Amino acid sequence: MAKDTSPQCKKCRREGVKLYLKGDRCYSTKCAIERRSYAPGQHGQRRKKVSEYGLQLREKQKAKRFYGVLERQFRRYYNWATRQPGVTGESLLRLLERRLDNVVYRLGLGSSRTEARQLVMHGHFMVNGRKTDIPSFLVKVGDEITVKEKSTKSPRIKELIERASEKTPPAWIEFDGEEAKGRITTLPTREQIDAPVEEHLIVELYSK
Ligand code: SF4
Repeated sequence: MAKDTSPQCKKCRREGVKLYLKGDRCYSTKCAIERRSYAPGQHGQRRKKVSEYGLQLREKQKAKRFYGVLERQFRRYYNWATRQPGVTGESLLRLLERRLDNVVYRLGLGSSRTEARQLVMHGHFMVNGRKTDIPSFLVKVGDEITVKEKSTKSPRIKELIERASEKTPPAWIEFDGEEAKGRITTLPTREQIDAPVEEHLIVELYSK
């Protein structure tokens, strides 16, 4: 499976916003963007005039990096979004939010999407009672995501469940810490998606 192995903090610095790619570190004073809030590289501190195309491109890169999705798959989500009723940009974000790795992260069962993705791939979760180890699996309303019984004994997963129990999940998901179980109650609205992205620019880019 293709993987983006470029340094995480550089991605945030390039986009100029926190993308929360490194878990707990992102909330600490060690966050690179807090210390160097300019783009990486020799010319990172120069002011550049950005073209309309440049803005659209950056917005797409930001969304891809935020959700940890590569170009081909991202394009597939876009094509799918164009066939959904409603606003294409919102449909795109909704599809990305429905990914299992994102839902595990939103439940607090991963400190970052990267960790959530790894835990999913290692088979620690079940969807509606079935082991599901595909991070791109799309959940739907009513789906139940549970931590596998055996996995609840892992110290890291135990810690994540305890932390998740103390947090409030997004309004479209429920979490029961006792049972280590989450449930999708509804699909998220744009207001419930905290992605720092202007999705209309992505639509403009792809519809050229
Ligand atoms: Fe981004 Fe997190 Fe690195 Fe800060 S610590 S720059 S939010 S990945």
